[in-house]
Amino acid sequence: LCKHMAAADAVIPPDFELPVDAFDIPHCYEGDLGAVIVPEGMIKDRVRRLAKDIHAKIGDNELSLLCVLKGSYKFFTALVDELAYARSSCTQPMTVDFIRCQSYEDTQSTGMIQIIGLSNLQELKGKNVLIVEDIVDSGQTLARLLHTLEELGAQKTWTTTLLSKNVPRKVDVKEDFVAFRIPDKFIVGYGLDYNQKFRDLNHICVMSPKGIEKYRN
Ligand code: 5GP
Repeated sequence: LCKHMAAADAVIPPDFELPVDAFDIPHCYEGDLGAVIVPEGMIKDRVRRLAKDIHAKIGDNELSLLCVLKGSYKFFTALVDELAYARSSCTQPMTVDFIRCQSYEDTQSTGMIQIIGLSNLQELKGKNVLIVEDIVDSGQTLARLLHTLEELGAQKTWTTTLLSKNVPRKVDVKEDFVAFRIPDKFIVGYGLDYNQKFRDLNHICVMSPKGIEKYRN
């Protein structure tokens, strides 16, 4: 990719809603969805370009990719595959790690969070880390995670998110690589859940009132 090639945002407009019946949706979710707002094919295309943008920015350096479970598992695997192509001439390897975050109820927005899943928190010390998130809404989760990684001594950090919601942030947080900017709607699919359901859905969707009622805890 040419270094000077401009990167543009992929913005999903507020009224962009495709009919669910135009797509192949698992039978179990019939009636539970309101609309498809980003079809799987579009995600694939966008992730391909995002990987090139990431490579153009980060270059041939050792890179640790950090998957924030559970929501980003699909985005993560798609991105790692595309980055592997984008980095095919690289001499420095890419490594993967998987974490879950637990927030303390009473921490401030930039407080530390507990990271679960690394055998040793020192593992990220001195590393170039790309955090891979599913969605940024208030910004608190990502801000806390960034703060925590910096406290742990990560050398350089970048963030990439599948979705960035067009809502005012409670905390400012750097979103280096955003796949899609979306309107303020509750999203499920492509890894994102509603009470643990819908993660297996291939497309990014909004729910129907019936689905929200059916899977309410
Ligand atoms: P933030 O801390 O930025 O407000 O929220 C980030 C987290 O909230 C995400 O990692 C995700 O778990 C959850 N979240 C925010 N918006 C949505 C949404 O529209 N759908 C789903 N499924 N989760 C969301």
